[in-house]
Order: sequence, then structure tokens, then C-alpha cells
Amino acid sequence: IFPGSVDPAGQRATLGVVGGGQLGRMFVHAAQRLGYFTAVLEPDAQSPAGLVSHHHIQTDYDDPAGLAQLAQLCQAITTEFENVPAQVLRTLAQVRRVAPSAAVVSIAQNRIAEKAHFAACAEVSGVTCAPYAVIETPAQLQAVQAERTDLLPGILKTARMGYDGKGQVRIKTAAELAAAWAELGGVACVLEKMLPLTAECSVLVARGWDAQVVSFAPQRNVHVEGILAVTHAYEGTMPLALATRAREAAVAIAQHIGYVGVLCVEFFVVADGSEHGGLVVNEMAPRPHNSGHYTIDACDASQFDLQVYAMAGLPLPQPRQHSPAIMLNLLGDVWFDAHGQPQEPNWYAVLRLPGTHLHLYGKLEARAGRKMGHLTITGPDVASVKTVARRAAELLS
Ligand code: ADP
Ligand code: MG
Repeated sequence: IFPGSVDPAGQRATLGVVGGGQLGRMFVHAAQRLGYFTAVLEPDAQSPAGLVSHHHIQTDYDDPAGLAQLAQLCQAITTEFENVPAQVLRTLAQVRRVAPSAAVVSIAQNRIAEKAHFAACAEVSGVTCAPYAVIETPAQLQAVQAERTDLLPGILKTARMGYDGKGQVRIKTAAELAAAWAELGGVACVLEKMLPLTAECSVLVARGWDAQVVSFAPQRNVHVEGILAVTHAYEGTMPLALATRAREAAVAIAQHIGYVGVLCVEFFVVADGSEHGGLVVNEMAPRPHNSGHYTIDACDASQFDLQVYAMAGLPLPQPRQHSPAIMLNLLGDVWFDAHGQPQEPNWYAVLRLPGTHLHLYGKLEARAGRKMGHLTITGPDVASVKTVARRAAELLS
């Protein structure tokens, strides 16, 4: 699908995305820079992506007429949120190029299938996930309570629909496990052993239709209350040997399922001396990821550029990071003062700091915990980036 092309019937080369959130918005921006037209399918009239796209199809994600219109407008279609109904992608794939596929999205949507996938490629990836047990029935719950005390203390996670730490309960005892499972509604879950994390990191991989693979170096992520708060992306942010292993593992994980598009694989770095050799795979997101937003300002091709290239079947450039970077997520909390009164953040002071790149997603209403935007700080060296990031964080706290 050539950028900027128009077919004999006058139809413009158009890329589509199911979902109208900020990931869709940044995808649309990247696609438009290359001259593509864009179409967004999203029920919300004021969505971050819908507001900036050439076409906004305002229907439910699984609306047959909306999907038909999307397929009619676009030559290739992607999605930007993890819980898109896999059936939607399957339907679209009957008539259009769709990436990632319904099959791989289904795996990423279910922790049980996801862990099975990680186990299936552990030999090539060289990493395993945290010890865990599946709990789908009362009988399994009792068996785990009786036989898997090795998983305590642990985290009970719903198999589906979890994100930003939602759908998780931390437990210490077998008795607490039953209550936690009830609290989560008795749905399919995994109980994972709580590991002593020294750090968390993620790796972005892009793979094309022709199986060409490129990747970014791992970035180190700091979560607060289950939500990504800060991403550190520069040489030395984690030990080189671990970084190399994580990157190779992520590539193997993408290859093994024949992934097409951008995939983010999250890892735990665990305290030395553990049985896991220091690196554990946590989960994967079948799309560009919050932890990769720094690539827009710090790399010569961003994660969104790569998603566009992969979908359009263009050669994938091996991205090169030209500046060390720190990304600060801007949650809705920043729009409220210490007394809970609404306030406009002091952008003037923030933007006066050198190397600050502000991205706001166009969301109308700020709410606590809502991702409103992010700030990426780049600079000539790691020390100055850290100094500016500290100053910016103070201004935004
Ligand atoms: P989500 O889908 O919400 O991102 P995760 O499985 O990534 O769910 O868990 C959210 C966060 O909880 C992780 O980033 C990590 O900080 C912590 N966490 C999750 N699983 C474990 C574990 N097994 N041991 C220690 N910390 C964990
Ligand atoms: Mg996670």
C-alpha cells in the first residue's frame, strides 16, 4: 500500500484503526505524516483518534455496518486496544489485510493462553514466566489452596480484561485466596507467585508481513498503583546482559506466533540468585505501548511509524535512538491541586525546561488515573535528561 497513492477510482491509500484512544491518535498522526488517509472506528464522538482522523466511523466496535464501512474505506486495518473483540478482527480479515491477527490478539487477551504461549517458546526465548496456577473452577481453587502454597504470597489476576493493575488481588494466605477469587467474581484467573522485582522493563518489536523483524532496546518502567508512571530509555538504564536477553526474548516471542505489527513484551527483572536467571516474562500487548511513547521524540522511527510501515507492507527501518529519554505519564491527577480543586498545569514552566516534548491526547475531562498525555524529555546526555525530568516532575506534582 503505497503512501499517498490514489487508485483509478479515486480512492486514497487509507489505513484504518479499530478504537479511538490515544494509541490510535498517535498511529493516525504517524500514518498521516506519510500521506495516508486514516479511518477510525469508535463509538465515542470526542475520542482522541476520532478527532484527528480523516474519517471517523461512529459505531460500536462490532457493528456490522460500521465494520463494512471501515473495510470499504481502508486497504489495511489495525487495532489500538487490547480488548477489541477478536471476532471483529476475524470478520475484517476476510476482506482486508488486518494486523495483528485475531489469533494473536486472542492469545494476548487471555493470561492463560498467553502464559501457555510463553511456555511454548521458552526454549527459544530463554525466559519463562512467574510460577503460576490456573483457577477456573472451585475444584481447582481447592487444589491450589491445598497443593500450591509455593505460590504464596501471590497475585490473583483475572485471565481476561485486566489492565493497569485492575482485576488483580494480592494475597498472602490460602484462606485469602478463596475470598480474592470471590471478589473477582469467580471468573477464570491465574494465581501468580509474587516475585521480588528489582525492576520492570519492556521491549517493542515490529514484524512485517515478510517476517522481517526490528526491535527497540528495552526501556525500564516504573509503575505507581499499577499504572505506568515513568519510562527510562537510555543506555545503562539496565545491565547490558539483561537488556540483550530481553530484546532477544521479545523477538523470539513475536516470531513464534508469526506476529505482524508492533508487539510490546513486558518483563520483570528479579533479584539475583533466584531460579529465574534474573529475567521473567510478564505479559505482551499486541500493539504499540505506553512504554514506547518516548520513541516519537527520541528515535528516528517511532513505534507508531513502525506500525504504519508494517501494516502497509513497507520495509521496516531498524530504528535508532538518537537521544537518551525519560517519559513521564500525565494522569488526570495533574489537573487537580492538593485540595482536589481543578487546576491547569503550568505548561509554561514545564516547556521552558530544555528538551521537553509535550503530548496531550485531547481528552475533554481530566479524571484521577486517566491517561491525559505524556511528557518526553530528551537531551544530550543522561545526566541532563534526569535533571530536567526531576524538575518537570516537581512542577507537575
Ligand atoms: P496489567 O495487565 O494490569 O499491566 P500486570 O500483570 O502487568 O497487569 O501487573 C501489573 C503490575 O503488578 C506489574 O507491572 C508489577 O508491578 C506488578 N506485578 C504483577 N505480577 C507480579 C508478580 N508476579 N510479582 C511481583 N509483582 C507483580
Ligand atoms: Mg502490565
